[in-house]
Amino acid sequence: MTGSLILKPARWEDRALLYSLRLSAPVNRKEHKMHPMKLFDLNGRVVIVTGGNGGIGRSLALGVAKAGASVAIVGRNEEKNQQVLAELGETGSPAIALRVDLSQRDQHGPAMQDIERQMGPVDVLINNAGIVSLSGGILQESAEDWDNVIETQLNAVFLFSKLAARSMAERKTGKIINIGSMYSYFGSAVAPSYSAAKGAIVQLTKSMAIELAPYNVQVNAIAPGWFVTDMTAPVRSPELKEMNDEILSRTPAGRWGKTDELVGTAIFLASQASDFVTGAMIPVDGGYSIR
Ligand code: NDP
Repeated sequence: MTGSLILKPARWEDRALLYSLRLSAPVNRKEHKMHPMKLFDLNGRVVIVTGGNGGIGRSLALGVAKAGASVAIVGRNEEKNQQVLAELGETGSPAIALRVDLSQRDQHGPAMQDIERQMGPVDVLINNAGIVSLSGGILQESAEDWDNVIETQLNAVFLFSKLAARSMAERKTGKIINIGSMYSYFGSAVAPSYSAAKGAIVQLTKSMAIELAPYNVQVNAIAPGWFVTDMTAPVRSPELKEMNDEILSRTPAGRWGKTDELVGTAIFLASQASDFVTGAMIPVDGGYSIR
């Protein structure tokens, strides 16, 4: 009876044979010898951080530089660019700073060419530059403010990624990391354009991830919770105390994030460690999004 054959427990000799077969299966010895921490090594990688002179961007730029990457930061304010460039210099990794306004589309192409000329092909693009309009809602927000936010937070991400992705796809390697937000998940009554742009970033990330996966280009996003930067300074002012209290009580960690706490996730997504991770949105939020 076939049934009894299936139910019959394997004899110990059969088990021993199976075991020895498993042992003799080819093993990629080289892979096993590599230290796992090498997976996070960014030596030799060229990384662009847009908005690299600001709160989160500065931490990410310094973090990837310390992990060995050559870094190009992009921002409008030359003084801030130079300050962060000096700090990058102290890491010992090659670094450049470019004065670029990403809301001006004609500046994208020349900026990318300049970076590639000075540093070589781009391995990682971190789309971090951003602005917010705390307009108070759609009844107050002007069309001009809406356009400015969407242009910087969404259109520039699409256009700059397009430039980077073309060369990454040709070389069959690359990583694009987009910066989302808690407003990628939730609506905002005070900053509708910001919420619309950050919501769209999730779907843009997934769409690019699907399209570029066959070219070995991974596209992921980080969704920061509430971090101490210039952008969020108004929320910590006495005028918005109620909002600040609500943030603190809703965040299980019970505090604001420090920008350096985003570095580990960025290095993971920029490195070989995440080669089979794509289209993901990783919250780094002290638990804010789980309530
Ligand atoms: P900051 O205001 O500290 O930094 C914003 C950065 O973007 C600056 O480097 C700024 O440089 C750059 N930038 C803005 N507009 C442009 C532009 N048109 N062209 C080029 N660079 C530009 O804010 P954060 O560090 O907080 O924000 C960084 C990103 O993180 C943003 O996308 C933000 O939406 C997102 N985020 C922040 C959170 C937080 O809690 N802080 C939470 C969730 C998401 P410059 O002015 O010199 O151009």
